[in-house]
Amino acid sequence: MAASKTLPMGQRKKIALVAHDNKKNDILEWAKYNRNVLAQHEVYSTGTTGKLLERELNITVIKLQSGPLGGDQQIGAKIAEGNIEFLIFFWDPLEPLPHDPDVKALLRLAVVWNIPIACNRASADFMFSSPLMSGEYERQLPDYEEYRQRRIGGAE
Ligand code: PGA
Repeated sequence: MAASKTLPMGQRKKIALVAHDNKKNDILEWAKYNRNVLAQHEVYSTGTTGKLLERELNITVIKLQSGPLGGDQQIGAKIAEGNIEFLIFFWDPLEPLPHDPDVKALLRLAVVWNIPIACNRASADFMFSSPLMSGEYERQLPDYEEYRQRRIGGAE
């Protein structure tokens, strides 16, 4: 599928932050360091991560359900709708979790819609220090129209 569409990302980006329990300290430390940059964007989060970020950083966070209660899926849905365009997701590589399928689904949708994803601090640091953070960006999307129009069997 050739890339044939672009979606503009403005200066103020819609960023989702999510961290599993063993990674919450990491994301808090990272977010404190980047507090002033984060404050310039629209921040979404799963329930518990969001509560911690609001408390520690004193910024506004749009809080969704806690991850295991559907928060990851809510973020995935917003990515598909174009309402979240940037993901910082510190998932835990050492522990199985009850919502592992949701984690995989969220990572998959981030790739489907070509949004920037950071799954550890080093990636988040590189992404946040990019000049693209404060500018506009044309996000390329594969043309999914052919897929939408595909015919199944004899169905029109
Ligand atoms: P939480 O969810 O922020 O509500 O803990 C994170 C997750 O497990 O996906």
